[in-house]
Amino acid sequence: MVTRSALIYLSRQEGLKEFATRFRPFKRLTTRFVAGENIDEAVAAIRELNAERCSASFDHLNESVANPAEAEAEVKEYLRILAQIDETGIDSNVSIKLSQFGLELDPELAYKNARAIVEDAARRGHFVRVDMEGSNFTQATMDIFKRLRAEFGLNDVGIVLQSYLRRTYQDAQELVKLPARIRICKGAYNEPPEVAFPDKKDTDENYVKVMQLLLSSGVYHGIATHDPHMIDATIAFAQKQGIGKEAFEFQMLYGIRRDLQRQLAKDGYNMRVYVPYGKHWYPYFMRRLAERPANIWFVLKNMLKG
Ligand SMILES: Cc1cc2nc3c(=O)[nH]c(=O)nc-3n(C[C@H](O)[C@H](O)[C@H](O)COP(=O)(O)OP(=O)(O)OC[C@H]3O[C@@H](n4cnc5c(N)ncnc54)[C@H](O)[C@@H]3O)c2cc1C
Repeated sequence: MVTRSALIYLSRQEGLKEFATRFRPFKRLTTRFVAGENIDEAVAAIRELNAERCSASFDHLNESVANPAEAEAEVKEYLRILAQIDETGIDSNVSIKLSQFGLELDPELAYKNARAIVEDAARRGHFVRVDMEGSNFTQATMDIFKRLRAEFGLNDVGIVLQSYLRRTYQDAQELVKLPARIRICKGAYNEPPEVAFPDKKDTDENYVKVMQLLLSSGVYHGIATHDPHMIDATIAFAQKQGIGKEAFEFQMLYGIRRDLQRQLAKDGYNMRVYVPYGKHWYPYFMRRLAERPANIWFVLKNMLKG
């Protein structure tokens, strides 16, 4: 879809990022999808989610850092998050992006930085999810994840797969054998047809196939989607196979389909909400706009209101 591609393209434009982050009305709108600019605001948002029987996953927003010092600052921030989880007693794990730890600069640096986080989290008994980024990073992310998984336990570190990628079903088959905890999502980046299905129908079909493979594996996985068809297919498959509600979790993004988040939690499903925070919200925010054209109207309406 043209709008989607255009918004994802704009999400990578540095000039627009500078403008948007300074433009107050635009910044105000981010509160719908972003929990705040600092850890305390994210903790407060997670407390509210926990009160509604939803667990959380912290995400400190900052993709594609420019130098090793910036990557080092990200490591420090995540170590602070892990300490905060223990100090506050909130129910949350953490999600990291390898580009945040220097993947574009040097994969070895990204590995070392990610390892420092996983080691601290494992010591504290917390889980680290390695997010999946654009397809230029897929193999490097898989390679680093496998190294981490070889060193740490099943409940220390997990990964994400995207059902729009043609390679994903094979990756899922390989990873369940490790075994590994996987979050399946549809995928949020612009990808060429050689690597990703151009039709939503194929992405959805693949999602269901991977979901069934994951649920049948006996490992605790994350089913990340706001799509009622994917959720219904998951519930129906679990019921048919006699797979209990405690055997997997649904995952959604902060501020999206809160009604459905609450409903699934009320129905006794494990529900985890991904809670992004930080000053570098621009690319994340633009990807959320790209996912749903109606969000653009929401933005325009609010900008006109001033
Ligand atoms: C917990 C979690 C973690 C994720 N991690 C990653 C990751 O590591 N890598 C990655 O590439 N992607 C990630 N994503 C994003 C994902 O790939 C999709 O882009 C996103 O979830 C939209 O797909 P969907 O399954 O909700 O289905 P869609 O078919 O896109 O949407 C179904 C319905 O959900 C609602 N909806 C979806 N998105 C929005 C929105 N932005 N605003 C309002 N309503 C919306 C609408 O009602 C829509 O009709 C993650 C998503 C979640 C929930």
